[in-house]
Amino acid sequence: MNFLLSNDDGIYAEGLYQLAASLSKLGKVTIVAPDSERSATGHAITILNPLRVKEVKLPGLDVKAYAVDGTPADCVKIAIDLLLEEKPDFVFTGINRGANLGTDVLYSGTVSAAIEGCIMGVPSAAFSLVFGEEMDYAFAGQVAGEVVKIITSKGLTPNTLVNVNIPNINSEKTNGMKVTRLGKRKYTKNYEKREDPRGITYYWLAGEIIDEDMDVDIDMEATNNNFVSITPLQYDLTDNTMLDTFKLWGLEGNPL
Ligand code: MN
Repeated sequence: MNFLLSNDDGIYAEGLYQLAASLSKLGKVTIVAPDSERSATGHAITILNPLRVKEVKLPGLDVKAYAVDGTPADCVKIAIDLLLEEKPDFVFTGINRGANLGTDVLYSGTVSAAIEGCIMGVPSAAFSLVFGEEMDYAFAGQVAGEVVKIITSKGLTPNTLVNVNIPNINSEKTNGMKVTRLGKRKYTKNYEKREDPRGITYYWLAGEIIDEDMDVDIDMEATNNNFVSITPLQYDLTDNTMLDTFKLWGLEGNPL
């Protein structure tokens, strides 16, 4: 099996290294990742500038690796379109430095790179490790290996993306895996107002987390309770419950 790996923390990030080390035991890994950190760039793609691709040697890994001066979605696009000899069987992204839970998946470059895999017809999964003082990426890599074993043996259609969040604890303390729904994660006091050395005001995004509508099967609740959270996602944002209502409102068939 051929695996394409990418991330948004940059090609030299520890999480990507551990993901590659773990998944190399299960298939042939190729890495195509941003040349530097592109966290929170969402699903952006580069259209106004060219893309430069450089093959790099990653210490300790015997895998082909390409650094791209673009976004995570660019990396997956150009990899499947051009760099890989054949279409990969799966796209795996991460392991992200920090959680991608609830609403945050919409900002995440790691999740968006996996979504790009789905858009290009390749089943995908995104892996993230909840942020903490000590980030045990080796354990997170093991977890990713276990999840990959299951989804590669069961099969997955490209319509489904698997979003995996790993709690920041060691292996003895975890409660195992839990299948979850996406929660609502919001932030308050978003921007810090500061002054630069020339006395000009600037703003820096920070914010405190507010998790709303928590329940036992919500992804944030799962990681809070030391479970590995596994959420099936899809990129079709259609609100199917409103289709008939819109027709009843006369939004279809209106002669204008
Ligand atoms: Mn990141």
